[in-house]
Amino acid sequence: MIAPPGAGKGTQGALIAAHFDMPHIATGELLRDHVARQTALGQTVQEYLDRGELVPDRIVLDMLREAMAAAKAAGGGFVLDGIPRNMRQAHAAYLIGRELGMVANVALHLQADDAELMRRLLARAALDHRSDDTREVIAQRLTLYHEVTSPILAWYRDRGILVSVDAMRSAHQVGREVLTALEAMRPLLDHVPEWMRVPVDLTGLEDAFGAIRAAGAPD
Ligand code: AMP
Repeated sequence: MIAPPGAGKGTQGALIAAHFDMPHIATGELLRDHVARQTALGQTVQEYLDRGELVPDRIVLDMLREAMAAAKAAGGGFVLDGIPRNMRQAHAAYLIGRELGMVANVALHLQADDAELMRRLLARAALDHRSDDTREVIAQRLTLYHEVTSPILAWYRDRGILVSVDAMRSAHQVGREVLTALEAMRPLLDHVPEWMRVPVDLTGLEDAFGAIRAAGAPD
């Protein structure tokens, strides 16, 4: 999953993992767990998390390798949430997958605008007390997403595995669309080689249906 903070990676990642019965590998969760347990790694990464900066690639890539090896042992499916966060991690994740004989079938992009993301994260701050959910740190995380993470999307688009979904709606609506899109892709994934695939952009669906209705077509 490639998505800005607040777009619903955690919620949708858990939903996809439960639906397809596969592990949900969330690097942010793994890192926060180390911080909460005050492990040596937790002490190293805490400052990065508090400032909304990316922790060094080596740390998250070691986590990823371990989690993907475990996912392979458990059956082979996996949902990645929070990684890759930059181009270097995207390439490294690809190489780890290739080494383990695991490929990414879908890159799921959750799209939402910054004002909505800021609103959601400030609302979450009131409930969760995450150290990085302050207005200033959220702004830093959004900037980092636009500058460093979102360029990865082009790479997945070129590989034909990008599925973009409008995440400006309720978690329930987004979840339904995500699962429908992923289920519809199953036969394609089984039969069409990666080089023949095309990206799927569902972000204009609402607009398109609105236009059809406005033109008088039945719902
Ligand atoms: P998240 O829960 O995905 O929003 O991640 C929370 C924080 O964990 C981020 O702001 C980063 O400090 C750190 N983090 C999570 N995943 C990564 C990653 N792939 N690379 C570097 N830092 C990460």
